[in-house]
Amino acid sequence: MENRTEIGSLGEFGLIEHLTKNFETHQVSTVVSVGDDAAVIDHFGKQTVVTTDLLIEGVHFDLMYTPLKHLGYKSVVVNLSDVYAMNAIPTQITMSIGISNRFSVEALDEFYEGVYAACEKYQVDLIGGDTSASQKGFIISVTAIGEVTPGKFVKRSTAQKGDLICLTGTVGGAFLGLTLLEREKKIYLENPQVQPDLENESYIVGKLLKPEARKDIIEFFEKNDIVPTSMMDVSDGVSSEVLHLCRQSSLGCRIYEEKLPMAEEARAAAFKFGLDPTTCALSGGEDYELIFTMKQEDYDKITLQEEIAVIGYMTDLEEGKKILTKGGNTFDITAQGWNAFQK
Ligand code: ADP
Ligand code: MG
Repeated sequence: MENRTEIGSLGEFGLIEHLTKNFETHQVSTVVSVGDDAAVIDHFGKQTVVTTDLLIEGVHFDLMYTPLKHLGYKSVVVNLSDVYAMNAIPTQITMSIGISNRFSVEALDEFYEGVYAACEKYQVDLIGGDTSASQKGFIISVTAIGEVTPGKFVKRSTAQKGDLICLTGTVGGAFLGLTLLEREKKIYLENPQVQPDLENESYIVGKLLKPEARKDIIEFFEKNDIVPTSMMDVSDGVSSEVLHLCRQSSLGCRIYEEKLPMAEEARAAAFKFGLDPTTCALSGGEDYELIFTMKQEDYDKITLQEEIAVIGYMTDLEEGKKILTKGGNTFDITAQGWNAFQK
């Protein structure tokens, strides 16, 4: 980088002003934004949802292969995904950062460019946050706030026996992107002359580094008068999320291997790495798709929606949590969702 501005040269208030001055307000509910002791939000008779996530360098992301702009974008999107997973519309975020002097103002500018891009794309307002020094490593905490028509929020615990289990988009891609980048990192550390081989892999790398939240699906529900009976987003992996829906709704389930939606690019990458595509689809995390259940009567409303796949249905608790393989065998679903503690 050409210029390096030390954070110290701006001071804390100067830095906050510098990072936030370009953000404009999109939501009428934003009454007071950055610059006071607290923000003020007026939701005009709607119900409010709030969710927070913490991202820590070395645990949740690796700056060796994560561009700061992507990281800024993703740290917003993963929170918005939690709001959509409640069938709500995100309206505001706060962004808190812990930074060491390893970072320059220019580096933070890149990060905030990503934050800005996500705020524009999803029409949410950055209304505050906190800025602190950190001894080592980059720490990011985002809170997202959203609104929902009273009573229309969707929990994890309200699925009914016989409901269809649906999944948006495709799964497994982000995990394969992570596998690829970790492999290239290892090669690079052993042999820095070797250039990373990321050609033709932009799909899986993109799924990991620049995920999108399924705003389109929540809008589709609204338009087509669908209220899922339960819902959550896929952050840890399909099998682990299916088990959450079952446990919290006190039900069992039956899902079908052949119905799991996976992109061709992800399937090809799995074969290349000698991994079983189904295992990647079930256990890979970070796809930020939505998994939801809905009444069978609503099936006609989704048949033309290519972004939604029916992968199974809910059963009685006593019937267990099962997956039927392409070969006709039935297995118990186990929670091998990807998580930071398993590394
Ligand atoms: P306080 O002393 O009350 O914590 P701050 O000086 O930390 O206030 O923050 C001043 C204003 O800037 C507040 O509106 C706060 O929400 C906002 N803010 C602080 N850090 C950030 C950040 N990293 N991104 C966005 N807004 C921030
Ligand atoms: Mg503060």
